[in-house]
Amino acid sequence: MRIKDYKFQLINIECLPTSVHLNLIMNFDEDIKDMLPYIAARLPGCTYIHGTDIINFTEKYHIVAIKPREITITRVKNEKQARELCEYWKDFINETEEVKDSIEPVYEKKVEIGPLDIYRALPATNCGECGYPTCMAFAAAVIKREADIENCKPFFTDTDSGVRSLLLDKLQKAGLIQLTHDRKEKELNEGARI
Ligand code: SF4
Repeated sequence: MRIKDYKFQLINIECLPTSVHLNLIMNFDEDIKDMLPYIAARLPGCTYIHGTDIINFTEKYHIVAIKPREITITRVKNEKQARELCEYWKDFINETEEVKDSIEPVYEKKVEIGPLDIYRALPATNCGECGYPTCMAFAAAVIKREADIENCKPFFTDTDSGVRSLLLDKLQKAGLIQLTHDRKEKELNEGARI
């Protein structure tokens, strides 16, 4: 089912004229319920249980919820960004429809990873090199896709390689890492500065 057109509204969730946190609600007439298992297959790190009719997904600082006739996105800055996001998701869904036959649908997807899983693998020195005041703050930012694990350089030099390996695998399965473990290990072995 292709999305032809949509309407959207921005909701000021803090009810303040100065609020910079708006929620976007995008509505369309087409019912994309049958497409949800295919959309879930294309979104690393999303949560989807077939029958609930909702895909939850975190992208950078946005929380995205995809339902049969509606998409909601948190922390939208303004109308310009809202239009860009609507166009992005319309194209993403229509493209999924086009390549549907080549996608293995997913009926259950849930990656269990939280800030503590990341924190436990960090050096816990609160050195601030990553730009965050504490390792816990950095771990929370990684979960929210606001920071990348590669920004903690001590993690790649001071953390035990087995622990590092486990966390990188988990992050990759959750779609929270761009670099592959192999590439990261190769860079380390070659002494490259990350
Ligand atoms: S760079 Fe790593 S060790 Fe240093 S504060 Fe950030 S997360 Fe902690």
